[in-house]
Amino acid sequence: MFRLNDNYLKLPGSYLFSTIGKKVSAYSAAHPDKKLIRLGIGDVTQPLAPAIIQALHGAVDEMGKAETFRGYAPDLGYDFLREAIARYDYRERGCNVSPDEIFISDGAKCDSGNIQEIFSLDNRIAVCDPVYPVYVDSNVMAGRAGEYNGATQTWSNVIYMPCTAENGFVPEFPRETPDMIYLCFPNNPTGAAVTKERLQEWVDYANKVGAVILYDAAYEAYISQEDVPHSIYECEGARACAIELRSFSKNAGFTGVRLGFTVVPKDLKCQDVALHGLWARRHGTKYNGAPYIVQRAGEAVYSPEGREQVRKQVAYYMDNASYIYQGLQEAGFTVSGGVNAPYIWLKTPRGMTSWEFFDYLLEQVNVVGTPGSGFGPSGEGYFRLTAFGSRESTVEAVDRIRKIRL
Ligand code: PLP
Repeated sequence: MFRLNDNYLKLPGSYLFSTIGKKVSAYSAAHPDKKLIRLGIGDVTQPLAPAIIQALHGAVDEMGKAETFRGYAPDLGYDFLREAIARYDYRERGCNVSPDEIFISDGAKCDSGNIQEIFSLDNRIAVCDPVYPVYVDSNVMAGRAGEYNGATQTWSNVIYMPCTAENGFVPEFPRETPDMIYLCFPNNPTGAAVTKERLQEWVDYANKVGAVILYDAAYEAYISQEDVPHSIYECEGARACAIELRSFSKNAGFTGVRLGFTVVPKDLKCQDVALHGLWARRHGTKYNGAPYIVQRAGEAVYSPEGREQVRKQVAYYMDNASYIYQGLQEAGFTVSGGVNAPYIWLKTPRGMTSWEFFDYLLEQVNVVGTPGSGFGPSGEGYFRLTAFGSRESTVEAVDRIRKIRL
């Protein structure tokens, strides 16, 4: 009889967003007259920029004519997109990344979940705590995470690197030496950014201990401060130890269109074996390429009009972020994030737990956010608000939260 991959059975239920959903539905059913404002889930709300829509229309028309029809895309992505990425995201920032080191995909969630496949199950992973859950869950599914401890909400074989107010939400080097290090900056959920100097220390550390860094830069477009790196390849030695993951979701509103990419430098080797070849093999075997029309849309993000339009969109969300940050700070909350990221990380008042504060906000002011404890043990006592709402709903949410008496 067949057997299951019982690592899947070890996964606790997707507690965070399903519990939020249930609580919100129950509250709405009991109070149909109340207007809820949702600043919980990290999805964008602004429509796609005109340059992107135009490129989509153009590519759709091409698909309707025999002369310009395209079938399967090249496994690793069309050259026109890989060249635009290499030029604008890397060369123009002084980073040495060539088009053939870029693997186009349908988003950073898949890539961040799949990348662990090319590594041994014996590797120890280290993650920031709180953490984007995909990094941990994909390692659980693969059988690398060990056993779950419900009391501490941790996995026995995962090294947790607490990100706290004391360390500015940027982790210290762990006591035990990891083999694979997941870093995400600007960070979801804390909104923290890492300075170039500090990231360089991480690169030096990884090269010293022989670890690989899996660097998720999905929020790179939100960086506003000079000393914050947009890519890990701004650091010396990163080509020998780091894979970078990027997404079009948050910089250009592609959450429903789907496009992302992963950079695997050819210098990145395990003994004599280049990881580039392994990832190319994995990608080519299990993936048939992002759609042509979507890759053309991605190319339009780098056109002069596209760049200007998506810059404005990011600025719109970041105006929301600073409105939330300032409004809550003035109201006496302890807030961080929101400067290089569309997330505001808020300390819960009066020692409430993250879930107590969730209930309190839902019931008292009808605002929905995300409890920090859902992202890991060090998220307890914190709460995430996102800047992805409309201006009107963001302003109203902040005005409502400000009325709370701390
Ligand atoms: N990485 C991080 C840190 C994210 O927060 C998200 C989306 O929320 C993703 C990756 C997923 O990006 P994509 O939409 O490209 O799959």
